[in-house]
Amino acid sequence: MTTTSKRRVFNFSAGPAVLPVPVLEQAREEFLSYADAGASVLEISHRGGPFVDILATTKQRLIDLLKIPESHELLFLQGGSRLQFSMVPMNLLRGQPQPADYILTGSWGQMAAAEARREGPVRVAWDGGATDYDRWPASEALKLTSGAAYVHFTSNETIQGVQFPSEPNVGTSPLVCDASSDFLGRPLPVEQYGLIYACAQKNAGPAGVTVVIIRKDLLERCSADLPGYCNYKSHVDNDSCYNTPPTFGVYLVGLVAKWLQEDVGGLAAMLQRNQQQARLLYDVIDQSDGFYAGHAQRRSRSLMNVIFRLPNDELQRKFIDQAAEHQLCNLKGHRSVGGIRASIYNAMPLEGVQTLCEMMVQFQKQYA
Ligand SMILES: *Cc1c(COP(=O)(O)O)cnc(C)c1O
Repeated sequence: MTTTSKRRVFNFSAGPAVLPVPVLEQAREEFLSYADAGASVLEISHRGGPFVDILATTKQRLIDLLKIPESHELLFLQGGSRLQFSMVPMNLLRGQPQPADYILTGSWGQMAAAEARREGPVRVAWDGGATDYDRWPASEALKLTSGAAYVHFTSNETIQGVQFPSEPNVGTSPLVCDASSDFLGRPLPVEQYGLIYACAQKNAGPAGVTVVIIRKDLLERCSADLPGYCNYKSHVDNDSCYNTPPTFGVYLVGLVAKWLQEDVGGLAAMLQRNQQQARLLYDVIDQSDGFYAGHAQRRSRSLMNVIFRLPNDELQRKFIDQAAEHQLCNLKGHRSVGGIRASIYNAMPLEGVQTLCEMMVQFQKQYA
């Protein structure tokens, strides 16, 4: 560990979130002068050689990591996933004969559906609200519209800690996924998707850049009446340089992808690591005789956001204070759900999870 990383806390923030130290170190190394540009990535034109190269390399790394087929385009946009809540229906629902179906497994899915309703007819194919969003649905439980414009789901609900272990079976309608908080955390069968979007600041880079992967045939739906920026075609036709792209963000996503390829060994290896680290935490929860109560049902548990409660609010406050003494930071649950949320994205070191587990066991001995 370098001097800098020694002073770093274990950061369990839900997003913007922990980044790999080698990524930050390389960015620092190259910060004042990138390659032979003689200037920072922050200072160079998005049309010039060095950035054109960064963009192409980043794109290729993601294509290789995710095995993105020729049938799909990869874009770097701005506006976060919130803008995608609107851009998806603007482009894929406008003018379509059938509504879009939304599968709701938590807060982000609800927000995505609310935005889509401004744009066109939306049907809720399944809503987990009756059990407080603690699970994903069996495919048989989905009430799907035949010929739906698309079917939207949230692969990992960041607030409730509910993650689909694999894609829901939605027949022939294009499958659209908000993958914001588990993107690059595991391999994805991209060929099964119509569209995937993910803001970078959970697992793939900094805030300000959003990755979109879209099946090319769906571009035919994008109406020329749409505002230029909001039309996927604008970005495809200009290779993500329709306007000035978030250059530094793209550069950092590229470094994260390089780290995944060269240090981690790809997405299958990343998944294994994530499963291992999540299991450590869930084991402590399961062996606590109910002192720690997990939110999600076992089979729906997220590998990325581990959400649990303590017996009361006072203990929860004490827990957060005691955690901070061990450099375990940003563990407070989302205001809508309460409790504790440990976000253990790709870059969370094993040592961070182990330290949290030890602290949890100690804390229970002290207060149970
Ligand atoms: C964080 C998050 C969002 C919102 O992303 P913004 O970049 O803030 O718009 C949407 N969906 C999920 C699943 C998220 O985790």
